[in-house]
Amino acid sequence: MTRDQVFEFFRRLAEANPSPTTELEYSNPYTLLVAVVLSAQATDASVNIACRPLFERIDHPRQMVELGEDALRDAIKTIGLFNTKARNVIALSQALIDRRNCEVPRTRDELQSLPGVGRKTANVVLNTAWGEETFAVDTHVFRVCNRTGLAPGKTPEEVEAKLEKIVPQPFRRDAHHWLILHGRYTCKARLPECWRCPVIDLCRYKPKTPPPEERARSTAARTASRGSSATRTATGRTASTPRANRSRSRPTRLP
Ligand code: SF4
Repeated sequence: MTRDQVFEFFRRLAEANPSPTTELEYSNPYTLLVAVVLSAQATDASVNIACRPLFERIDHPRQMVELGEDALRDAIKTIGLFNTKARNVIALSQALIDRRNCEVPRTRDELQSLPGVGRKTANVVLNTAWGEETFAVDTHVFRVCNRTGLAPGKTPEEVEAKLEKIVPQPFRRDAHHWLILHGRYTCKARLPECWRCPVIDLCRYKPKTPPPEERARSTAARTASRGSSATRTATGRTASTPRANRSRSRPTRLP
């Protein structure tokens, strides 16, 4: 995309959602850090369901350590990888008590030195808690950036580096939220909803998904054409389409 197209891409996402933010529920930088650690390979909705009652009682590293690993594991057992995550949350809470006087760090290196905190988690905390212009690349951001041609890359790190380079002001601070929300609700993994996409004319993805009515019409047409290809045998019984043709005539899965 050209610089003007990148600007227009974000201008439209910003117009549709002027104040994007994380969908994780949290009350302070510490609970945000915990929620983001718990959200690895899990949905924000599942993390919120588990954390709502937990964060009513616990919003400080000391309280978490007092709660203990067993009770935490029980509280988050509906979230994937809960064993490892419970261990990491207790360990990172203890590290915050020992090294940071219970404060959540404001630098990437310090954040990434905590148990269970990788680059993506650090980027989310730096951005959402501390207002830094960071670009957390999760599965949604990775997909949107590659599909659209906005910031193609083979790895999340490559995509992040490209976003760093191309995203203009005044969109840098909220860019990753717009991209996540766009991927979660419009440019979905199995079937992007191109017919209602605000950046459809800027996006390089070729097999654009048509509106549902149009897809329903083509499905009906395909079904009708399969019906008419059936042949009548001499005995009056309907012969099914030969196996080789059947497999050819299966509807192609939409990308
Ligand atoms: S046009 Fe389709 S593929 Fe492109 S960004 Fe929009 S939803 Fe995604």
